Amino acid sequence: MTDFPFQLEAQDRATAARAGRFTTRHGEVLTPAFMPVGTAGSVKTLTPDELVAAGADILLANTYHLYLRPGVDTVRRMGGLHRFMGWSRSILTDSGGFQVMSLSELRTVSDRGVEFRSHLDGSRHLLAPEDAIRIQDGLGTDIAMSLDELVRMPAEAGAVREAVDRTVRWAGRGFAERERLRGEGSGGMALFGIVQGGTDATERARCFEGLSRHGFDGWALGGLWVGEGRSLGLEMVEHDTAMLPASRPRYLMGVGHPVDLIEAVARGVDMFDCVLPTRNARRGTVFVSTGRLVVKNAAYANDERPLDPECDCYTCRRFSRAYLRHLFAAGELLGMRLASLHAVHQMVSLARRARAAVVEGRYAEFRAAFLEKFRSRATLAPAAGA
Ligand SMILES: [Zn+2]
Repeated sequence: MTDFPFQLEAQDRATAARAGRFTTRHGEVLTPAFMPVGTAGSVKTLTPDELVAAGADILLANTYHLYLRPGVDTVRRMGGLHRFMGWSRSILTDSGGFQVMSLSELRTVSDRGVEFRSHLDGSRHLLAPEDAIRIQDGLGTDIAMSLDELVRMPAEAGAVREAVDRTVRWAGRGFAERERLRGEGSGGMALFGIVQGGTDATERARCFEGLSRHGFDGWALGGLWVGEGRSLGLEMVEHDTAMLPASRPRYLMGVGHPVDLIEAVARGVDMFDCVLPTRNARRGTVFVSTGRLVVKNAAYANDERPLDPECDCYTCRRFSRAYLRHLFAAGELLGMRLASLHAVHQMVSLARRARAAVVEGRYAEFRAAFLEKFRSRATLAPAAGA
């Protein structure tokens, strides 16, 4: 049914956590995996070699941004996104739909697709489900996502139902488009279906049922962490993973707070992406093993310790909190880079350590120890407005 190999290596007994691996045309990806976000073909401030050193074996790139600038034809002429951005490991692209909904102007959703105006120059575009697949194929992605319709919650039951129906229809058209491309010798990427339905468990189940008619290579959990709160979000995750096939990877879109990652892994999620760790890092806030550290806090002015004494990233091996605080206070670009390096390393290695715990059959203990330490705020200054 699918030629995308996903191997489950271990399943935790006390929780639903899993350890697995899959292989794309650009190498092996170990799961659970955190994917740093390279919005416009770059994980802001970091080089591909630095991402490799942080342990990342897959990145997410945003189709909407690359489609508008520099454009698919340019990327294709430059040999595809991997060569264009100098990244030789795997890439997952989103469908573009989420950013169309959140960034573009004057968008109209109809069965044809999403019509919108570019947030860059006001030009008009139509993104149809078939286009979303062709664009991602043109970029040369390893894993593509189906175009879906996200409903902003709270929404009326009728609106949720309509969005689920459309998501199912669009996914079918996208799937057919990939088959057509394969008939022409392209379309080699994996394709994931996206479960929508907001926080309505019945609608999510109906969405999955409609999508499962197609042989998707993996499954994404969509429309969550958009304001519903952690406990309801995790409830939906638990609901989704119970109905999704165990033999395919599961990807929780846009989620990357350390606590959310640990809790979602416990419920059977395999893949994550989130722009927040690096976005926050550029603004001087990073997660460490004992919580959230605000680099500019005056309490760190003479602190010789690294950001996280337990972290072995380049930043933590080499520099003190005092130096990082100074860089941010002085507006030095190096501060953004060093904090971003730590942030990517921290999330990628958190997923890697979660994986090791599953393999060793001690995920429940790992989760309990992680949460206790993360909430302790040991080694941190009293939060200043944090
Ligand atoms: Zn570090």
